[in-house]
Amino acid sequence: MTRSVSSSHASTLHETLHRVFGFRGFRANQEAVCAAAMEGRDVLLVMPTGSGKSLCYQLPAIARGGTALVISPLIALMDDQAAKLAALGLRVERIHSGLDREAAREACRQYLAGQLQFLFIAPERLRVPGFAEMLAKRKPNLIAIDEAHCISQWGHDFRPDYRLLGRSLEMLKPAPVMALTATATPTVQKDIVKQLGLAAPAQFIHGFRRDNLAIEVVEVSKPRRAQFCVELLQLKERRPAIVYAPTRRDAETTAETLSSHFPSAAYHAGMDAGVRERVQREFLEGRLEVVVATIAFGMGIDKADVRTVIHTALPSSVEGYYQEIGRAGRDGLESRTILMHSFADRRTHDFFYQRDYPEMAVLDRIAYKLGDEPQHVEDLRDALKMDQEIFQKALEKLVGHGGAAVDFEGMATKGAAAWRDPYARQCQHRQEQIEKMLRFADGGVCRMRMLVEHFGDDEDAGRNCGLCDFCAAENAVAQVFRPLKRGEEATVESVARALRSSPNGMATGRLYKQLFPSGGMDRDEFESLLVSMARSGYAELEDTTFEKDGKMIPFRRITLTDAGEEIGQGEPLRMLLPDAKERERAGAKPRRSSRSGSGSGARSAAPQQKTLIAEPEVKLSAAEEALEKRLRAWRSEEAKKHGFPAFRIFGDKTLRELVLERPQTQDDLLRINGIGPEKATRFGESICAICAG
Ligand code: ADP
Ligand code: ZN
Repeated sequence: MTRSVSSSHASTLHETLHRVFGFRGFRANQEAVCAAAMEGRDVLLVMPTGSGKSLCYQLPAIARGGTALVISPLIALMDDQAAKLAALGLRVERIHSGLDREAAREACRQYLAGQLQFLFIAPERLRVPGFAEMLAKRKPNLIAIDEAHCISQWGHDFRPDYRLLGRSLEMLKPAPVMALTATATPTVQKDIVKQLGLAAPAQFIHGFRRDNLAIEVVEVSKPRRAQFCVELLQLKERRPAIVYAPTRRDAETTAETLSSHFPSAAYHAGMDAGVRERVQREFLEGRLEVVVATIAFGMGIDKADVRTVIHTALPSSVEGYYQEIGRAGRDGLESRTILMHSFADRRTHDFFYQRDYPEMAVLDRIAYKLGDEPQHVEDLRDALKMDQEIFQKALEKLVGHGGAAVDFEGMATKGAAAWRDPYARQCQHRQEQIEKMLRFADGGVCRMRMLVEHFGDDEDAGRNCGLCDFCAAENAVAQVFRPLKRGEEATVESVARALRSSPNGMATGRLYKQLFPSGGMDRDEFESLLVSMARSGYAELEDTTFEKDGKMIPFRRITLTDAGEEIGQGEPLRMLLPDAKERERAGAKPRRSSRSGSGSGARSAAPQQKTLIAEPEVKLSAAEEALEKRLRAWRSEEAKKHGFPAFRIFGDKTLRELVLERPQTQDDLLRINGIGPEKATRFGESICAICAG
């Protein structure tokens, strides 16, 4: 949305920008946002981290005169911003739990005396009786709500205290309210507007496309991921790097593996603040090259030259994932992000889902026991004989949805709200988030385009990025692609034939059943072939849903493009396929991915099937063992020489096959899984020589 800026506001804003901040000009969108606030309009601002959102509230706040109230959920961020403003010579105070009572009282006094330009507060302050009323005695000139996605239970970082905002804001108006966040899907955007009661806000949702990130997603078995990080980060130009690990323990073990190769350290919320600060500092200064972090890392950290961001597990939402990969390449230079996942990740998410979202019946049991008479939560739990952890989670959810109230003394009473529907919706939303993430991993369209569309950046042109593993498979570093085999080409041709008679496309599941009524081809291989068709421009894939028995069932639709219409007319197919044998070597099979589910999400997938089938161990003879050693040594030599990871030559499974088959000729070699014509030409002679020796 580009708005013309009224000239009097424009000159005030420019003048203040130069005088106070010393900046020469505005960055994209900043002026329009400031102007909307100058006009007294409410604003919803969704722009990525680092795009300059703070200025968008600070500048109009100064230009409007009076005191701006800034609500921010993170003490560290608050302190950082307040310090920056104070350094510009502005009058700033903060009120949060990290400060003593006297300091807070003094800040209130100055606020009421009109001596401040900015007052920063933490949202939980609003729970203190009388605090909002105190603020209301002197109305602010502008209210900024940082990390505004925290107000939405659909966001990935919901903070119940933010719920108090809506009510308090009423008292503090008529100041314009500006809600700022780097991460909000269209659903969350709507929720922010609703929860904060923003009146016809000016909305700015921009800048999600990053032109210098090459996004890759690769299937790797869990046990191999740490070692794979080592291989990926081997080249100097891939560092500095941030590796995101799913748990504190993973962060520590991965950091340990990495630290025998590069200066690396773990970083997570369980560490001492002092140690954490040191790790951050050393990373910023370049003494550490790799930081292995849980998602707690990066809040407020700004290192411009991060070349690689790796995820060693599937993140729990696309929003969180986008935030994390966004820390790569802030300097604008090309950077790579690699997400490792496998079917096992889905089960992990199922596990956490079940832990964090107790069944409705559990909440019901607690709600049933609650009344107007306060009871201590511990007594309540005893009476219900519930497991501590389950009870805590369920009560937290009840309180979050207004079905219960718990005061500071731990006394619980019945809440007034109809909490069941909102809770059911929240559960569903959470499942959808996981589903979306799984779908993202499955691919089928340009990775960056999918992310930009996810955030609803409506001014984006919707083009393909040209860098990701969908757009430029040949440049992928974490996976190997190969040309099609003859049988696969035949399958592609029959796919094209089938789709020609379905101009509106077809669900991929139906297409599979039609072409392989009795199996015949593995479903995952089939889907992978379809993704390759899309990658080469022969088809388009679209993830969508249909409704069945009141439930939204996700499915994937494929349609033929004009180029696809030409398939089978003589032109050779130009397609690349992920090397399935490499994937298998990486332990990623079998995967029965999201598409096989009923679509009702994590809970329905819950029966914990044993999905990982162990490979039968083949016992090697002494001679075979010796050969395996020789091949391994040659492989790492070769890999070192070319500066790429060993598995790009061939994976362990291929290695095992070579040992057992002892190929003598090029033709023998080509029969080995994982060795295509290119590798056979390039390495064939050496391999055959080793096998003969
Ligand atoms: P966000 O809050 O969106 O993550 P910040 O507000 O912290 O981003 O801004 C990122 C950096 O950009 C800060 O160092 C800030 O000083 C700088 N910056 C913001 N606006 C401008 C501008 N118009 N000109 C130059 N630098 C700017
Ligand atoms: Zn792309």
